[in-house]
Order: sequence, then C-alpha cells, then structure tokens
Amino acid sequence: KLILTTNDVLNIISNISEVIETNRQYLTDLDAAIGDADHGINLDRGFKAVKEKMPQFLDKDIGAILKNVGMVLVSTVGGASGPLYGTFFMRMGNVVSGKNTLDENDIVAMFEAGLSGIKERGKAQAGDKTMIDAMEPALNELKSTLSEGRGLKEAIEAAANDAYNGVLMTKDIAAKKGRASYLGERSIGHQDPGATSAYLMIKTVADYVDK
Ligand code: ADP
Ligand code: MG
Ligand code: MG
Repeated sequence: KLILTTNDVLNIISNISEVIETNRQYLTDLDAAIGDADHGINLDRGFKAVKEKMPQFLDKDIGAILKNVGMVLVSTVGGASGPLYGTFFMRMGNVVSGKNTLDENDIVAMFEAGLSGIKERGKAQAGDKTMIDAMEPALNELKSTLSEGRGLKEAIEAAANDAYNGVLMTKDIAAKKGRASYLGERSIGHQDPGATSAYLMIKTVADYVDK
C-alpha cells in the first residue's frame, strides 16, 4: 500500500514550485483574458517564497510543514488566490498535525478539509468557475476510486484526470465569483486560471506517485 512520507511531501511541494514556475506565463495569460493578468505571477512569487523557506521545514512533521506552506502563501501570493490556497494548505496541515506518514484516509481527510476551507473563505461552490471546479471533482473521484479498492496511486491519477475535465468545463460557464464575475456572460469561452493551477498541483502529485 502506498504511504507518503515527510520526505515525499517535501518533494511534492518542491515539484509544485517548479511546475508553477514553468506555467507562470500560461496562468498569467489565462488571467489576462478574464481577470487582471497576475495569477501566474502571484503563485510563482508565493511558491518561490515557499521554496526559500524549505530548509526550515526539514525537521518538521507533515502537519507543521503544510501549515507553514499555507502561511507563506497567505503572506506572499496576495489577490483572491493567496488567502484561498493559503487556507487550503493550512487546513490540510491541521488535519495531519504531528504525522510523519500519510495513508489514503489521511489524504482524503486533508483534501476534504482543505476544500471546505476554500469554500468557507471564498463563499463559492462548484459551477462558479473557480479553483473549486477542478478540486471538487478530483476529491469525489479520489473517494470513489478508493472505495472501489483500486489503491491510492490509481485514485490520485483518476482524480487528476477529473480535475482536468473540471478545468475544461470552466470554459462553458460564466463566472459567479472573483474578478471574472465582473464580466458575467462574457467570461464564457475562457478557461479559469485558478482551476488550471489547482489541476496542475493535483497532476504534480499524480506524477510524483506514478514514479
Ligand atoms: P485576483 O483575481 O485577485 O487577481 P488571482 O488572479 O491570483 O487573484 O486568482 C484568480 C483565481 O482565484 C480565479 O481564477 C479563481 O479560480 C479563484 N477565485 C477567485 N475568487 C474565488 C472564490 N471566491 N472562491 C474560490 N476561488 C476563487
Ligand atoms: Mg488575477
Ligand atoms: Mg490580482
């Protein structure tokens, strides 16, 4: 059975930081169409700050690491997505306080707590054209794949796949939350930047466990 260790979590965070850097312009271009052209810039600034702080995380447990990542994101990303991603990581950390390994139940509980935090903080739900449209289908798929007994690796891969379908779906709907909602129906046809970054993070976890 697949178990993630503290070292795996540190590697995944480092990989996310690289993926965000690689996709900085792409995420910013998506935000230029329906927002203020800064989503990739914001997240890259945040994950670079996380990367810089990582040496201080080495002796910490997974809960403390994730809480620290969340706090760094809140204080460096800014915009709408900073507090939301910050809350996501902090809530995930709260659920696994003191742990140095994660099993499939931990991972489901973390994702559930993180997504609930985003929904409470941003008052958005699935279908509002936000990061939730990638995360919620991914969480549902994670849970249903695990309940079929198909194992964590396969479940995370299936989750990433459904996150991507959620990203594509954001093109077909009007934004109800965030800056893109100022455009109303004119936001239709454009892919949500935050859903895209959420997918990229989930895909990074899937690629990591696939190795
Ligand atoms: P800003 O819009 O302040 O410039 P960003 O560009 O970094 O912030 O992030 C924009 C993304 O944040 C959107 O694409 C959307 O996915 C997400 N977002 C905005 N408002 C909300 C909300 N209330 N709940 C969830 N996600 C949101
Ligand atoms: Mg923006
Ligand atoms: Mg902004």
